Amino acid sequence: MATRALITGIGGQDGSYLAELLVGRGVEVVGVERPGGDGDHPNLAAVASAIEMAEADLADAASVVTLVESTRPTWIFNLAAASFVPASWLHPTPTVAMAATSTAAFLDAIVNVDRGIRFFQAASAEVFGRPAETPQSESTPIAPITPYGAGKALGLFLTRMYRERFELHASCGILFNHESPRRPVDFVTRKVTRAAAAISLGLESELRLGSLDAERDWTYAGDVVRAIALIVAGDRPGDYVLASGETHSIRQLLDVAFGHVGLDWHDHVVVDEGLSRPNEAATICGDPSKAERELGWRREVQFEALITMMVDADLALLRT
Ligand code: NDP
Repeated sequence: MATRALITGIGGQDGSYLAELLVGRGVEVVGVERPGGDGDHPNLAAVASAIEMAEADLADAASVVTLVESTRPTWIFNLAAASFVPASWLHPTPTVAMAATSTAAFLDAIVNVDRGIRFFQAASAEVFGRPAETPQSESTPIAPITPYGAGKALGLFLTRMYRERFELHASCGILFNHESPRRPVDFVTRKVTRAAAAISLGLESELRLGSLDAERDWTYAGDVVRAIALIVAGDRPGDYVLASGETHSIRQLLDVAFGHVGLDWHDHVVVDEGLSRPNEAATICGDPSKAERELGWRREVQFEALITMMVDADLALLRT
C-alpha cells in the first residue's frame, strides 16, 4: 500500500517544501486547507497537480476526526499555525485554542481510527522562553513567555503523553528559526534580504530595524523538512531539536545580505527602538546532536549560502 501523507499548513513555507520532498519520493500527499479558503497556494506551484486537497477546521475536533477518517493517511504532519510570534499577543485565544484542539484531536483520532498512523507535531524553540541554558536541547526546561510558545508547549506535552500512554509513533520537532525564499516578509531574515535587494535595485533607500544585537540559530527550511521526513519514516519516535547549532547576529545577517549586492548596510539601516520586542530572548541556539546521532541528519545549506539564496530570490522577484 502506498504511503499517504496528510499535511496541515501545506501552503506555508515548510508544508510546501515537505510536499515537494514527499511527492518526489512517491508518497501520496493530501494537503489540508481551511474551509472556504480561496485555494490560492503559490508555494505549491511545483506540486499542485500531484497532490490532493481536503478541507478541515483545525480548531474543531469533529472536523479533524472526519478529516482523518475520510483521508486515511499513514502519516500526519501537523504544521499549521499562525507562525509570527508577536501576533500571538494580538490573538492569544485562537492561537492557543488552535494549538490545543488540532494536536489533541489528531492524537485522539489516531487512537480511535488507527494506532498505526504516524504523527509529527511542529513545536518551536519558543517553548524555552528565555532559555535556562545554552545551547538548548530536548531536556532544556519548558518555560514559554508568549501565547505562541504556550500553544507550542501544549502541543509538545500532548504529543509526548500520547506517545507514552498509547505507544504511538508520535514525534515533535522543536524547530529553531528556519528560513527560505518562501519565508513571509514579516520575519527579520526576509525583511533584510528583501530590503537589500530593493535598495540595490534603487526601489527603496532605507531599512528600519529594532535591536541589532539579537542572536539566532538559522537553518534552511529545506534541510529542516528533510529531518522531519526522517523522523516520521524512521523507527525512533521522540522529540528532536532541529537547529544549526550556530548563532549569528542581526549584524552578521546584514553583512551577508547587503554585502552580496555590493552595499554597506550602515548607509541604509536605521535602528528604531520602537521596533524592538520586549522580553525577547537575546540569544537562541539549539543543540542538534540528537537529530544528527539518531537520524543521521546533516544540514546541507550553511548560513551565508542561505542568506545569499534569499537575496537572489528577492532580486528575481523584484525584477519581474
Ligand atoms: P508558515 O507561516 O509559512 O505557514 C503556516 C501555515 O499554517 C500556512 O499554510 C497557514 O495557512 C496555516 N495556518 C495558520 N493558521 C491556521 C489555521 N487557523 N487553520 C489552518 N491553517 C492555518 O509557517 P512555517 O511553514 O514557517 O512553519 C511551519 C510550522 O513550524 C508552524 O507550526 C510554525 O509555528 C512552526 N515553526 C516554524 C519555525 C520557522 O522558523 N519557520 C520555527 C519554529 C516553529 P494560511 O496561509 O491559510 O494562513
